[in-house]
Order: sequence, then structure tokens, then C-alpha cells
Amino acid sequence: MKQSEKEAVKKIIESEIEALTAEIENIQKSLEPIKKDCSLDSIDHKMLKQEQNINIQRYEVAKIRLNKLRSSYVNIERDTYGICKECEEDISIERLKLIPESIYCVRCMNELGL
Ligand SMILES: [Zn+2]
Repeated sequence: MKQSEKEAVKKIIESEIEALTAEIENIQKSLEPIKKDCSLDSIDHKMLKQEQNINIQRYEVAKIRLNKLRSSYVNIERDTYGICKECEEDISIERLKLIPESIYCVRCMNELGL
């Protein structure tokens, strides 16, 4: 991987981390416990609960991705970054720009069923 490519991917990781951090903060706000509200009937309450469950899922997904991005950011200067863990071929720069936390190339990812 060329240094200029690493710099480009690094910038992408930085902005993704920023966006995810903001998203996580937003979700966190909506995760406050649902207050008992007498004006809500049980159906409304159910819908709020459902909405909260979706938010909890989004929150988990965002947190996992944030951790992966952070470790990619740390690892990017290492020679192993951008190399597929399975076949040890280079992962394409296009893929890394889209998904900087990739540790497999597209072929291996498909073969592994990930
Ligand atoms: Zn591979």
C-alpha cells in the first residue's frame, strides 16, 4: 500500500469516526428509559418500546464499528494493514476506502460467508 493511499484512507477513517461518534451520542439520547406516562395507552407504549429496541441495535452496531475503525486507525501504519488475513493478498484500495476496517478481501469474505 502506498503512503498516499494510507493518508487517504486515514482521512476517511477520521471522518467516519467523527460521524459515528455523533450518531452514538444521538442514539444515547433516545435511549433514556421510557417514562411512565398516563397519557400513553399500551399501544403507544409498545411502539415506543419497539423504537427503543431498534435504537439499541443501532447503538450496538455503531459501537462495534467505531471500535474497529479505531483499531484500523492505529494499525494503518503497520505493514499488515490492507492485507487479507485469509489469503494474504492486498485488499483493493477501493474496498478500503469504502470499508477501512476490512480485514478480508472481497473474495475471501464471500468464501468465508461473512
Ligand atoms: Zn483474501
